[in-house]
Amino acid sequence: MLDSSSVKTGKIYYEDAYRVSFSAKAIHIEGRDAVLDKTAFFPEEGGQSPDRGFLGGIRVLDVKIRDGFIHHILEKEPDFAEGEYAEGRIDWRHRFSNMQQHSGEHLFSGIICKRFGYDNVGFHLSEKEVSVDFNGTLGEDELLKAEALANEAITANVPSEIIFLEGQEADQLEYRSKLSLKGSVRIVRFGDYDACACCAPHVRRTGEIGLLKVLSAVSWKGGTRVFILCGRRAMEYFDQDHEILTRTAKYLTTSREEVYNSVLRARKERDNLKEALRKRTLELMFLKAEAVPEGSGNVILFESGLEGDSMRELTNALLLRRRGFCGVFSGNDAEGYNFVIGARNEDARKAAGVLKERLNARGGGKPEMVQGSVRASQKEIENIFKLCLQK
Ligand SMILES: [Zn+2]
Repeated sequence: MLDSSSVKTGKIYYEDAYRVSFSAKAIHIEGRDAVLDKTAFFPEEGGQSPDRGFLGGIRVLDVKIRDGFIHHILEKEPDFAEGEYAEGRIDWRHRFSNMQQHSGEHLFSGIICKRFGYDNVGFHLSEKEVSVDFNGTLGEDELLKAEALANEAITANVPSEIIFLEGQEADQLEYRSKLSLKGSVRIVRFGDYDACACCAPHVRRTGEIGLLKVLSAVSWKGGTRVFILCGRRAMEYFDQDHEILTRTAKYLTTSREEVYNSVLRARKERDNLKEALRKRTLELMFLKAEAVPEGSGNVILFESGLEGDSMRELTNALLLRRRGFCGVFSGNDAEGYNFVIGARNEDARKAAGVLKERLNARGGGKPEMVQGSVRASQKEIENIFKLCLQK
């Protein structure tokens, strides 16, 4: 039975962030939930996702801390019983990456605090992203400066120190996150760059962080949320960018430096061609409208890429030749059509009504002209005009 007076779970990661395997006694087991007398598994805490790994040969899905006890949520019920020892092994690749992100965040936050006076008021470290929230506005220049200083601190390769301080001692030391803490305080210090109260595992020397890259920043609750990556994850990000840029340059048969200008030119060329095509299509459509023999029946034309104004002009051209419903449909069978329908001797709203009823079309207008959209094939639309709207 766990009660709050029992000895809490010992945190191996407090003393040794580099311990990968350990043996510990199970003090409480309930279904797939195992609590040990000590553990190297870091639980979900302070915005950081928990360690992964195996306990007693079973995959650890989640690690939570409740009332000082660390709960390992396993993939299935364990073979070991309360009072027995179990072997634990954490996923080192995952842990070390978290140590890189987390320690990099310390340096970055310490630098922002010293340099610009803003506090870190939130931290998220998950598989998807690493973000730090500051209670002040940080522009591009400030972020670039902080990134450069953080990388200088990484290159300086200063050792980290863990100091446990009590009461008065803690009051005398200058460190971040001072306000909310009582009793014994665990301070993590990276030389003169940063000192911060923290419970998570950190790297031994700043050099192990490898590098720190600011990816982006957004306004957040009157301050700034900054997305960063460190170490291996920063390298993977760079690898991905490098691959995309190299592939794009190859495709455009240019150098990586010229990719941006090359894309701008291609974009301009495409816009020019689009405009030329639009003009030609319109000319062709007016020729088609002029070729429609005069008479009393309905006539509809189909084309892709026509805009509202052109569709109305074309409809007017058809109305000069036909006394029935005259329509222009722009689009394709897969995505549907926008339409304009006009009539001289009929109420165009009647055509819109039939399309609405039969093909779920949307739209409306005046007796002389309606416009709308319909998701149907050319064949279906033509049939409506032949079977339902023909005099
Ligand atoms: Zn920390």
